[in-house]
Amino acid sequence: SVLAAQRRSAELELELAREPHRFRVLTGDRPTGPLHLGHYLGTLTNRVRLQRAGVEMFLVVADYQVITDRDVAGDVRGNVRELLLDYLATGVAARGDGGAGEGSATIFTHSAVPALNQLLLPFLSLVSVAELQRNPTVKAEAAAAKASGGRSMSGLLLTYPVHQAADILFCAANLVPVGQDQLPHLETTRLVARRFNDRYGSGERLLSEPEALLSPAPLLLGTDGAKMSKSAGNAVALRADEDETARLIRSARTDAGRHITYDPVRRPEVASLLLTAALCAGTTPEALAGDIGAGGGAVLKRTVTEAVNEHLRPLRERRRELEGADDLLRGVLAAGNQHANAVAARTLQRVQEAMGMTY
Ligand code: ATP
Ligand code: MG
Repeated sequence: SVLAAQRRSAELELELAREPHRFRVLTGDRPTGPLHLGHYLGTLTNRVRLQRAGVEMFLVVADYQVITDRDVAGDVRGNVRELLLDYLATGVAARGDGGAGEGSATIFTHSAVPALNQLLLPFLSLVSVAELQRNPTVKAEAAAAKASGGRSMSGLLLTYPVHQAADILFCAANLVPVGQDQLPHLETTRLVARRFNDRYGSGERLLSEPEALLSPAPLLLGTDGAKMSKSAGNAVALRADEDETARLIRSARTDAGRHITYDPVRRPEVASLLLTAALCAGTTPEALAGDIGAGGGAVLKRTVTEAVNEHLRPLRERRRELEGADDLLRGVLAAGNQHANAVAARTLQRVQEAMGMTY
């Protein structure tokens, strides 16, 4: 459950503070559009913070997962570029970015790492179709895709949590900073690791079970009150300019209550706005709600807009500076893909050996 994951995340934060080098992170995003505030507050700031604390990091640009819920990949090249810009502008230090190299994140695309993708085959044999069909996030994503004129559940959508298990297990990541929608997929990954060890480990733990790290904003809502999402047209993109940000936040759905209070259960839209402003301004949503009080929705939205624009100003400036740096972006992917391939080849070798598939 989300509550249990939040409690566990608090414990993990203590362990991270004591022993950052015990952890390795894998996380990532689909190249379906520019990143938004949900990514930023849900996982991106955690990534940068962990990296700065000395945690090793792998970031997957999940290009094959773009076609889980749509027929064609669209402008996947352009979208990969947007992701890289968002990562670097947020402060991710990447392998191949010309920096010191020490502690740099490995940024790679699925399509460039065949050994990782091959892990999907044995891993698929470890789960049942019924288990896959029970995944609540997959069910919600299939319903959303269908409602927006897409197709019904594809084989790839049904199995992508197992593909994600391969992402995490190939690099032996033990920590996955994600939003709340990813919790069922983490469970699948743990199941795959456990069953692989049981079947092929001969008493050894060949694959280790990772844990999710949730941020204080594990499910940020979009302007329509649903999960903020790249594909839903309800997002405030990191790259948006200040006027567009103001316009989007002004259009955000709230409720009829005049007096602003922080009540995530009964007033989720207002609470999500308060949380956004509080995290950007370095305060608490309760304190902000107290300040705004009878000012109502208009003051709330003005407060959020100012906090977001103020907080994102340096990021947006860096992003503009990086816009023309195509060689840098190419270099980052080349270096990341190269390293990911080396790591994936080693893991695949060990997996095949454990299964007796060495000839
Ligand atoms: P798409 O609509 O294409 O699925 P998305 O906005 O859902 O895009 P993903 O690439 O699927 O983004 O998710 C990347 C990561 O960002 C995941 O860890 C996910 O949990 C997190 N994330 C996405 N949206 C939110 C949100 N609204 N709040 C918190 N975390 C989020
Ligand atoms: Mg998604």
